[in-house]
Amino acid sequence: MNNSAVWYPFTQHALEPAMRRIASTEGAHLIEEDGERILDAISSWWVITHGHRHPVIMEAIRSATESYDQVIFAEYTHAPAEELAKGLLEIAPAGLAHVFYSDSGSTAVEVALKMALGFFHNANRPRRRICVMEHGYHGDTIGTMSTGERGVFNAAYAPLLFSVDRLPFPEPGREQVTLDAFEAACDTGEVAALLIEPLLLGAGGMKTYPASVLAALKRIAERHETLLIADEVMTGWGRTGSLFACEQAGISPDILCTSKGLTGGALPLAATLCTPAIFEAHLSADRRKTFFHSSSYTANPIACAAALANLAVWNEEPVQERIETLVGRQARHLARFCGDPRFSGVRHAGTVTALDLRVPAGGYLSEVGPRLRAFFRKRQLLIRPLGNVIYLMPPYCASEADLERAYDAIDEAASLFAAGQL
Ligand code: PLP
Repeated sequence: MNNSAVWYPFTQHALEPAMRRIASTEGAHLIEEDGERILDAISSWWVITHGHRHPVIMEAIRSATESYDQVIFAEYTHAPAEELAKGLLEIAPAGLAHVFYSDSGSTAVEVALKMALGFFHNANRPRRRICVMEHGYHGDTIGTMSTGERGVFNAAYAPLLFSVDRLPFPEPGREQVTLDAFEAACDTGEVAALLIEPLLLGAGGMKTYPASVLAALKRIAERHETLLIADEVMTGWGRTGSLFACEQAGISPDILCTSKGLTGGALPLAATLCTPAIFEAHLSADRRKTFFHSSSYTANPIACAAALANLAVWNEEPVQERIETLVGRQARHLARFCGDPRFSGVRHAGTVTALDLRVPAGGYLSEVGPRLRAFFRKRQLLIRPLGNVIYLMPPYCASEADLERAYDAIDEAASLFAAGQL
């Protein structure tokens, strides 16, 4: 039982042991007050890309605090936000021309949904439906929960959630079913947008699907003038091997959501990028067509400075080489579990690997999840399985030795489980 006054996220206080106190962070590690080093094998909920406390990003933050705290972001602007917007548009998929700031992945997606509905509303051709993919996850606000997979996470709030059209997940060999379902939904003329995690569905179980499916979905969307919203909150900034996952499908979304790795994971910031058409649909002498969205900390200058430094790291350091090294290491380590009867679904997408421990009852609430987590904790590894789905999403600086330790622990945990000792 945890006696803290803090109410922690995604934490059942009645069951969890005391939180471990982290005194500092460095590279791929969290360091406890007693000096114990824990491998952050999930990049602190998928935010840290280069490693904790990258010196260039930390220096940019320190330097920005000499000039800024928060600055209202209407009527007034500041250099970090302006420069960052330009920098983002230079590296984002072609066709995106405007940047709207917010402060988390969920808000980036909320903004995207509002942009899509506003686009059709302002053009006087209201479309009411949003299409999503089965097993998707887009955040924990009411709007993003509505678009995510329904289940134990959001059952209590179901009365408030709006309905969406869910496309079946493109299981291998059944990709056409997904495409046909999307085509049929679009045929109604009611679908404003398809909201989708490109190539890798994260919280829904680290499920991968091919770039060709994403490209085909985009073609269908275009034919029906339906907008494609790429939720790159998790997949962005190199996680799937390319800067943005959309690149692998050769597509440009109409709207792209980014957060997490935008600042290298150092500070909260999000951006929703969109095409000129969407911006222009809100451009009018009629004030009713204004894009009515804001939050207090929109475009925080210090967070923008951190994101600018992240762009500099991408431009000036061999980030892509580091990613490729990690992709290779991850693939080699994962290979030892291919054909292993203790696991199914051994898979990877760029720097992310996942495998399902075979258990009698899987799913997010599978009893094995907390037991695995406790086992990894004893081995000084931060690995948080999604039920029986074990995955690794380390920062790009994770060493060969770090990974070996993580995979050895996965192997050991599976053996203990098979022997009924976990
Ligand atoms: N979208 C995706 C794909 C995510 O993985 C997440 C978080 O994990 C979010 C949105 C929500 O981001 P945040 O937790 O910053 O609100």
